[in-house]
Amino acid sequence: MLVQSNFLVSQPKAIATRCIACSASGAATGRFRCASCGDLLEVVTQRPAQAATLPALWRERRRSDTALDRSGVWRFREALPGLVAAASVVTLEEGNTPLYALPRLAAKLGLESLLAKHQGMNPTGSFKDTGMTVAVSRAREEGCCWVACASTGNTSASMAAYAARAGLGALVLVPEGQIAWGKLAQALDYGALTFQIHADFDGCVRVLDEIVGRAPVYLVNSVNPLRLEGQKTAALELWEQLQGDLPDHLLVPGGNLANGSALGKGLLELQDWGLASRLPKISVVQAAGADPLARAWRSDGAPTMAPLAPESLATAIRIGKPASWKKAAAVIAATRGTCLAVSEAEIALAKAEIGAEGLGCEPASAATLAGLKRLRAQGFVKQGERVALVLTGHLLKDADYALRFHLGTLPLGDFAAQERPPEVDGALAARRRAPISLAADADAVLRRLEQESAHA
Ligand SMILES: *Cc1c(COP(=O)(O)O)cnc(C)c1O
Repeated sequence: MLVQSNFLVSQPKAIATRCIACSASGAATGRFRCASCGDLLEVVTQRPAQAATLPALWRERRRSDTALDRSGVWRFREALPGLVAAASVVTLEEGNTPLYALPRLAAKLGLESLLAKHQGMNPTGSFKDTGMTVAVSRAREEGCCWVACASTGNTSASMAAYAARAGLGALVLVPEGQIAWGKLAQALDYGALTFQIHADFDGCVRVLDEIVGRAPVYLVNSVNPLRLEGQKTAALELWEQLQGDLPDHLLVPGGNLANGSALGKGLLELQDWGLASRLPKISVVQAAGADPLARAWRSDGAPTMAPLAPESLATAIRIGKPASWKKAAAVIAATRGTCLAVSEAEIALAKAEIGAEGLGCEPASAATLAGLKRLRAQGFVKQGERVALVLTGHLLKDADYALRFHLGTLPLGDFAAQERPPEVDGALAARRRAPISLAADADAVLRRLEQESAHA
């Protein structure tokens, strides 16, 4: 039986939201859709009193011994909607992820600096944790017994972990055969009830939407605007890590298009509160086979977007009908960024290049570097500018992709028709590092070592 629990001592505080299309205000409930027009909601945040004192407070909390302060999400709680009593917070001490410099790639691309905000260093290996801690805490406070999501993998891994911590049931719908097994293994290990649906991600969303209308489950897909409130803290961290001196460009991979929207919301709020003066241009990079926003994008936004049947080996962004496209389009337009698509070959090459810098990431994350190279070639990113990439997930999420790439069995041939720069295919071949099988003989190993170092 899916029942609401009745251990609540008091009603949770209502969270003020506004419809992104018709601006109607309301409470965030059920499907998280506007009661008047059906579009998405966003959380309305108030300018905190004494905003100027917050940077010192947020930084100081990192030295605290309590999990709430140490969390890279909850230490920014003045920027989050007034929710949960401290006791309802479900945290794995997410956030506080590293910002790595990539000086060799920066020099190669003619940039002053290139940084990677590695959100794959979160507790379950993706940025989804930063939003999930807020959504699952709210579910617990509302007395829900089940949380549910449709997922390309990382949302389900994250939700399953936070639900387990909170003692809630976790209902997962994933597209059968279309998620990386590392992510599926996580959902199972954290005890989620996992359904592999005979459909793509967009089909899973459709089924779940109906379930949410018929059973008391709390929806944690990114249409839930609380997810974005947690995810926006990565932008606050970036701003903090750079002492307020934000880069010229921020590149984010785009799937359902919530993360780019969230980071933009965070930065625009910092500006509103007088804490940031100059914002980066936020650009969203999609995979060429799953690029509905890139197709619709014009420099003044995207008036409409046509869904498509998605194809990509970067399964985290294999989405043809992104729910948050209007939010993302608004953020890109407000910061004068752009939206573009990159081929599978460019993603594979970029992933190997990031790997060769000692930073493992998922293929979806590598779309950012592939996009940067295109934007640099087009002159949208200029010589001497400063750029930050958001790496959304960890290499080990999809170890299969990396192995198949190096063994030469990744089916890039299926995408041979995708347009790409002419040098990419040759560069890809040069990046492969297949394991070498040899006899148990030191001479044989040394001979091979000599050959290889002569080539290097
Ligand atoms: C979810 C996810 C994305 C896409 O984020 P959206 O908010 O859906 O655009 C990109 N990369 C990874 C690794 C993800 O898990």
